[in-house]
Amino acid sequence: MSDVLALYRVQQLELEIIGHTKRIKSIDQLIENDEALREAEAAFEAAGTEFEDADKRAKDMEFEIAALQDKQQASETLLYSGEVENPKEMQDLQMELESLARRKDVLDDELKRLASERNGCQQNLKECESNLKATRTARAAENKELLEEKENLATQVNEKLTKRKAAVKKIPADIFKTYNSMRAKNSNRPVSVLKDDACTVCGIEQNSMVITAINRSDDIVRCQSCGRILIKL
Ligand SMILES: [Zn+2]
Repeated sequence: MSDVLALYRVQQLELEIIGHTKRIKSIDQLIENDEALREAEAAFEAAGTEFEDADKRAKDMEFEIAALQDKQQASETLLYSGEVENPKEMQDLQMELESLARRKDVLDDELKRLASERNGCQQNLKECESNLKATRTARAAENKELLEEKENLATQVNEKLTKRKAAVKKIPADIFKTYNSMRAKNSNRPVSVLKDDACTVCGIEQNSMVITAINRSDDIVRCQSCGRILIKL
């Protein structure tokens, strides 16, 4: 194998390792930043608080009505007990009972409204809960696939790192040093394939001197335009 071909193989391995590593990172982010799940959790929590508040308002009203009924009963008992004989006092009691009855009508209406509000909140809470459950189930299945993919990629990365190490050993140190020094400024592609007499990375067609040099020897020949090491496969 020529040194250039060996370099090209190392480059291919490195590009695959970089690609896999990027995908592993994006899988981690996908699992971590699950917006739909966060939204479903937040909605469920908010619906829970709303229901508790509505429930408390309705219960407070029930207590208020119960207290009013106690008062009504006490006044009625007193009115018909025979203990109150003074007409003025009796009239006051009767007026109080009428006032209590009017107040109770108002509170009953208010309780109806609050109970309906509570039902609405309860319904919403149930919907949020089932949505959260469905989102969690869907995510668990999706994450399972993603985690399997990640595991598979990690295994491949390790295999490719081992292959790369072995491939690098076969390349003369000075040539590999040149390759390495070119990596950063060439987007990890210091070696470019020559196809139809043109460099496939920059697209520039090479002159006959370059073509002849590539065809004649295994020496390193550079692209006239981008300076990459050219290889004819
Ligand atoms: Zn080029």
